[in-house]
Amino acid sequence: MTPPAPARPVFLVGSRDDEHISHLARSIEALGVDTLVVDTLAFPGQTRLALTEGLDGITVNGQRLGIPGAVYLRSVYTHPLAFGVDADADMDADWRTTLVAFREKATLLRGLLGRWEALGVPFYNPESTSWRIQKPLQLALLAQAGLPVPETLWTNDAEAVRRFAAGRRVAYKPVGGGAATRALGPEDLSEERLAALGAAPVTFQALLPGEDVRVYVLDGEVIASIRILSQAIDFRQNEERVESFALPPEVAAQCLRATQVLGLRWTGMDLKRDAEGTLRILELNESPMFLGFDARAGTDILGHLARGLVQAARA
Ligand code: ADP
Ligand code: MG
Ligand code: MG
Repeated sequence: MTPPAPARPVFLVGSRDDEHISHLARSIEALGVDTLVVDTLAFPGQTRLALTEGLDGITVNGQRLGIPGAVYLRSVYTHPLAFGVDADADMDADWRTTLVAFREKATLLRGLLGRWEALGVPFYNPESTSWRIQKPLQLALLAQAGLPVPETLWTNDAEAVRRFAAGRRVAYKPVGGGAATRALGPEDLSEERLAALGAAPVTFQALLPGEDVRVYVLDGEVIASIRILSQAIDFRQNEERVESFALPPEVAAQCLRATQVLGLRWTGMDLKRDAEGTLRILELNESPMFLGFDARAGTDILGHLARGLVQAARA
């Protein structure tokens, strides 16, 4: 037997304190490949980065880095609202300087990730696809490709909301995130309530009453499909049963196509069944959590992802 080709290390970009990073590091090391955590939560407080004008002139904590074999991108923590960031005290003291500091951090980190992408390193997922992930574009691209998505309206136009909501059940949720999905009630269509759209736009969507499904796709393959049975409209705080199940082949094909349309190497997608029983795509996440699903549904998304990253690093 010939030993497998030596692999360059896999870089994990995120927080050392994020279990997704620490579990992946352990699983990849167990497969005999080195990992390096670029701790973006601890940057610039602790993590020291130095970039020169050469594309590969990159030093982390005083160590000159070689070119990674693959990069797993969990989070860059470039906004005070990002999950895991605690900037309350800094924002209270001086929000303007704090925002400027976050923007400076973001610019350097995006530049760093872009360098590895420019060097041809496989990215899970590439920064260059993230413009397609914004939901008002992502769902339109999926619809354009003939994939089933719910009828949706993103707007701050009260009249458009009234027209959209006439004669059917509607769900509403944030455009970007930060709040749960709720059913739109008659009281939400009052003048007063709709005036809130003057502060921020909102997503309105045909309400899908059926089961929630989560599908993970990695390198052109469905690696896990899970259904969540819940009474509540937003399953996240209200799961009742989480179980692995076999996806019908035509739905699996739609999931692969959706992943390809958005240019992702890996994703966790949310689907929900409409009243007629069709599974419609709510979204593809570019950095989905997976440990909770592995624990509850008995899937091995962690193992698949670790092997996928190792394989990419050996290629
Ligand atoms: P997020 O990015 O916040 O996860 P999602 O679109 O996945 O946004 O919505 C979160 C959850 O809310 C979904 O998984 C689903 O349970 C529920 N939900 C979202 N949209 C609808 C809808 N149109 N009808 C019914 N439930 C919905
Ligand atoms: Mg979701
Ligand atoms: Mg999401």
